[in-house]
Amino acid sequence: MRFNGGRLGVVRAGDVVDVTELVGADPLEFPPVAMVRLVADFEAHAGALAAAAADGPGTPLDEVEIEAPIPWPSKLIALPVNYVDHGAEMGSSYTARTRGFFLKAPSALVGASGAIELPDLPGREIHHEGELAIVIGREGRGIPRERAFEHIFGYSCLLDMVVRGDEERVMRKSYDTFAPMGPWIATSDEVPDPDGLRLRVWVDGELRQDANTRDLVVDVAGIVELCSAVMTLSPGDIIASGTPAGVGPVQPGQTVTLEIDGVGRLSLPVRQAAAVRLT
Ligand code: MN
Repeated sequence: MRFNGGRLGVVRAGDVVDVTELVGADPLEFPPVAMVRLVADFEAHAGALAAAAADGPGTPLDEVEIEAPIPWPSKLIALPVNYVDHGAEMGSSYTARTRGFFLKAPSALVGASGAIELPDLPGREIHHEGELAIVIGREGRGIPRERAFEHIFGYSCLLDMVVRGDEERVMRKSYDTFAPMGPWIATSDEVPDPDGLRLRVWVDGELRQDANTRDLVVDVAGIVELCSAVMTLSPGDIIASGTPAGVGPVQPGQTVTLEIDGVGRLSLPVRQAAAVRLT
């Protein structure tokens, strides 16, 4: 995980071990790519990280500011209609199998201790889309589905926030804070079956989305195959796999919670953003 101003940590049950110095990360660097570098070089650090996790001093998770695990990926990719039931609720005539993917601005990423800030768009609905995020670990192009898992570092929770409407999708989904992610990355060894994960979203106490990744139209391996057929996937790249049925509007004052079994639980308040002054 990433916390307290760019520090890197290994999460245990209830606490985090700071491994910033152990992996040679500089929390103040710009651009903030320490986690991308760690993902790329993970094999070299795995032994030391395991040792730190076994007996390093921990800080309780509720005493740290949790930040987006990868704030500066080369790409934040997302799948449109990738659950049949979400396609039905949107009246969509296509799925991700034929429509492919789109990009979201990485600057929309925000961590678990942040907030979802709604732009001032009177009369417009802003929806939550709870999704399993795939984090790429090894560079590749033209990756066949049989080799897809060799290129996956891990998984996380991602809320693909969106203003409903007719403008270009990339604009409606790229407002700052429209990609809450985290609270951490579960490495792939901890998620043996990413195509069988229960995913739920609550707004305040109300269960809005309740699905399982087994119902993905393009499954996890297929997503890596699809995206890498077009472009080189790099360590730290993030792919949001699509959302199931149950999307709906959020309002300032509410709290949106996404939980994916075996991956994590991500919960952020919704606020009205300060007006943006156009210069
Ligand atoms: Mn989505």
